[in-house]
Amino acid sequence: MHPLSHGVAEVPGTAALILALLMLAGSAPSCKGWPWAGPADGEKAVGAGPSRTVVPEEPCGGSLADCGGICADLGSDPGNCGACGVSCGDGAQCEHGACVPRYGLFFGDLHGHSNLSDGVGTPLEYFAYCRDVSKMDFCALTDHDVGREALERISAAADEVNSPTFVALSGTEWTSSAYGHKVCIDVTQPCSAASEDCDTPAELHDAVLLGGGLCFAAHPAVSWPGTAPTDWSESDDAVEEAGEIYVSEDKMNEAWRDHGLRIGVVGVSDTHDGTPGSAGVTGCFATELTREGILDALESRRCFAARSRVNGSENPASLKLKINDHWMGEAVPAQAGLPLEISVDVDAPTIIQSITLKKNGRTIATKDDCRARDCTWSTAATLDGPAYYYAVVSTGGNTLWSSPVFFE
Ligand SMILES: [Zn+2]
Ligand SMILES: [Zn+2]
Repeated sequence: MHPLSHGVAEVPGTAALILALLMLAGSAPSCKGWPWAGPADGEKAVGAGPSRTVVPEEPCGGSLADCGGICADLGSDPGNCGACGVSCGDGAQCEHGACVPRYGLFFGDLHGHSNLSDGVGTPLEYFAYCRDVSKMDFCALTDHDVGREALERISAAADEVNSPTFVALSGTEWTSSAYGHKVCIDVTQPCSAASEDCDTPAELHDAVLLGGGLCFAAHPAVSWPGTAPTDWSESDDAVEEAGEIYVSEDKMNEAWRDHGLRIGVVGVSDTHDGTPGSAGVTGCFATELTREGILDALESRRCFAARSRVNGSENPASLKLKINDHWMGEAVPAQAGLPLEISVDVDAPTIIQSITLKKNGRTIATKDDCRARDCTWSTAATLDGPAYYYAVVSTGGNTLWSSPVFFE
């Protein structure tokens, strides 16, 4: 029953006063047909005797609900989410009647070198370039196989520049000639592939887990004399959360399809000339621009990779993939016959040439008629069993890849 109906029936003057106050306070702006002007066809009268008054059963109308005299969309109102009075609180929003975290989009570069290994410039100069010239939101310095002293210098520089507007992360690149290279960030324990007690992936994983950091496969498809491409059978997706995709999408499909790894994608510069943020870029959807926020986004794989910046300090392109409200990176139960609503959102500084949707590495749909800088594409599919889906975007010489949504 309408909460005001008692008042309307019994004390019309009070109800009118409440109504006037509500209108003055502007607290009922979205109600269809509010203030109520009289009964419409089909509305019934309530009450009896001389004070009989007619009120509508659903004065808010449509899909709106009456929450204490305020018409609320329970599907999207963060103060009345799913039911009257259910507040989502700070940092959350209401989607389809459920409180979900509100994410901001942040860009960064997670792989590069300073003069502590074979790059140029000091750690502080590295971070300053990333923040001030490349306009990145977050950056990791990842010199090769650093020992304890060099790792402490990286950490000190990161702590010095870390701020509410720029996240600086310490890291290292584990440079194994046998297993390939792995970048590890937010590490506190040095682990050099040149040292006998840390020259296997398992030993690296133990060291990283001790320090609470995470790793990703660096240039996983690349081999050169003395360096092997990544051997995915040695990867552990509890520690290795992503892979650099810009060198080879095929190599990432090997990890996802042939090894069942639930890992995301990152784009990096791997700069050795002191210009982090100038080439490959990672975009992450995070609850906040803090170390915790960025690391959580990476662990949740709520990130996409861009092959390049292309447009200098202009905003890089962005890509968001969601399937049935699941973010890219999520692993969800595979239910055969499940209808899928797949949505891809792209924003780019140049015209979008195509968006391709891939399932298990194979193209299942392409949109090539955006001819704009931003594009939202929705398409439907039906799940026929375990599968992973990701999107690839081609725009003005750049390529973007989303992390997959995994149905398993
Ligand atoms: Zn490397
Ligand atoms: Zn490197």
